[in-house]
Amino acid sequence: MEWMIWLDFSTFVVLLGLFLYLFSSSSVTVLHRIYLFLHIVFMLWPLFQFASQTTTVVSYRLFYLSASYIGLSLLGIGWFAFILFLTGQYYIIRKSRLLLLSIPALVSVIVVIWNPDGGFLDINQSVEPLKQLQHGSLYWVMIIQLVLYLSVSLVILLYKVGRKDDSIRQRKMVRTALNSVFVLSFFSITDFFVNVAYIEYFARYIPLISVGMTVTAIYIVHAISRNKVFDIIQIVQKDVMNTMSMGIIVMDENDTIIEVNKVIKPILRIRIGDSFNPDVLAAQFKSDTARQLHAFFEAQRKRPMERLEIELFLDMNHIRHVIVQSAPILNQKKRIVGRVLTFHDVTELRMLVEETNTQNELLQERNRELLIMQDELYQANRKLEHMAITDGLTGCYNRRYLLQQLEGEIVNNIRYGIPFSIFIFDLDYFKTINDQYGHLIGDEVLCSTVDAVRSALRLTDVLARFGGEEFTVYLPHTNREQADLIAEQVKSAVEQNLVPTGIGDGSIAVTISMGVISIEQFNSADLDNPKAFLRELMAQADAALYEAKYNGRNRIVKRKLA
Ligand code: GH3
Ligand code: MG
Ligand code: MG
Repeated sequence: MEWMIWLDFSTFVVLLGLFLYLFSSSSVTVLHRIYLFLHIVFMLWPLFQFASQTTTVVSYRLFYLSASYIGLSLLGIGWFAFILFLTGQYYIIRKSRLLLLSIPALVSVIVVIWNPDGGFLDINQSVEPLKQLQHGSLYWVMIIQLVLYLSVSLVILLYKVGRKDDSIRQRKMVRTALNSVFVLSFFSITDFFVNVAYIEYFARYIPLISVGMTVTAIYIVHAISRNKVFDIIQIVQKDVMNTMSMGIIVMDENDTIIEVNKVIKPILRIRIGDSFNPDVLAAQFKSDTARQLHAFFEAQRKRPMERLEIELFLDMNHIRHVIVQSAPILNQKKRIVGRVLTFHDVTELRMLVEETNTQNELLQERNRELLIMQDELYQANRKLEHMAITDGLTGCYNRRYLLQQLEGEIVNNIRYGIPFSIFIFDLDYFKTINDQYGHLIGDEVLCSTVDAVRSALRLTDVLARFGGEEFTVYLPHTNREQADLIAEQVKSAVEQNLVPTGIGDGSIAVTISMGVISIEQFNSADLDNPKAFLRELMAQADAALYEAKYNGRNRIVKRKLA
């Protein structure tokens, strides 16, 4: 063979390759690509069959036939992929599975090219022309894989037909595909019988597969264009753009407007094909908005790679908040191929946020008030608590508190053998003071005496007004010796305390009589009834006080617990 003639053929292959490359690398859908592949495959068979009929040179014929059989080998997988995509079952052929699914077809192609000892196809010139084309056993590799792809496609289609939950459009597609399978199968099988099995009977080559492929292609092309299958993405994109609440302007790299969605049209005077002019756009707004927009587009011009955003307050009937965004559209090489401008009306959102903020502030205010009220309540409660346990006049603890405390303390003291003491004292001849100076002065004397007593006591001692001008002191951790000492100190503190009468320089001195008991020995039996024990203690102290009064007052009587 003259090698130069292959140059022409190579040119065809290169041109076809270029076309395929450009088509498949452009942003077309997978369905476009698969259909393209299938269509080329359809074209290979009749072309090379025709070529093979036009030559008697064995090597050329063999080459043409091989080429046509390569095309035929790829028909199954092309068809299979096309059917899946047409019926919306993309998930079956993900990229990772595509190679695996193509293996039978690739094996078939390899067998055709390899053709070992004419195992696939041979031309025997020594016999009559009709019998010259001899198919070897490897021919069945191609037939089997074709039947395999076709059967699996058929099964999938029949399964889809049985399902009622698909959309009408989808069901139409499935029926189209199914019909084309029948057409193709009919012509292929007939071709096999006419041109291979019973070639002698028909005695001539009849290009049935070619006819079948053409009929199928016409049918599919008709269905595709009627159902706008290839336009679906574009339709969806348009739909999405137009149903968005956002205004969109798309421009190419020369700032020519190539797309404007429905939202923009009534608001801005902008037309597809116009050159985008920021000044014209800005001029449609009030002066400060125009200035803002101007600055925005200026910033975008300086930093074209960045996505910029600006919030405008537009005064159209009522104030509207609009976020304008400008972003570059980049290709795979990160080069700017255009620009998209979006206008997002966020008035409702802003109003909602504002309202929420006001509500929040109100809530915070309420919260603050509540906290203040809580604090006041706490203070009042503390006051109440204090009032409940103290005596209003003298500020001492009251009887209830003392008895309550004592009950608890006594149990503890007995259990751990802690010594303690109790005083009961009463002011001497207090009635006389009242009678002589009046009740108010009497009250003052009472308070002053309490202060004097307190000055002689320790911080831990508990002083309580028992009633009238009678007081009780609980002295924890205090033995008899210490108690006697403190009792003396209290007595003399009162004695030395002079209360001014308010009349001239006159002052009153009072004395007290006191009963003291100290508990140093403990009887655990007292733990059984601490209340009774306490009563007993108080009675003893009271008796001591009585004794002090009886013996002349202004004295201390100590009692040991019997
Ligand atoms: P004695 O030495 O026996 O205790 O004589 P006394 O005058 O103190 O007698 P008694 O203890 O029985 O009298 C208590 C008096 O104290 C009766 C009452 O008028 C007076 N008194 C009781 N509580 C108050 C008070 O809160 N304020 C005033 N000013 N006087 C009170
Ligand atoms: Mg008295
Ligand atoms: Mg009294």
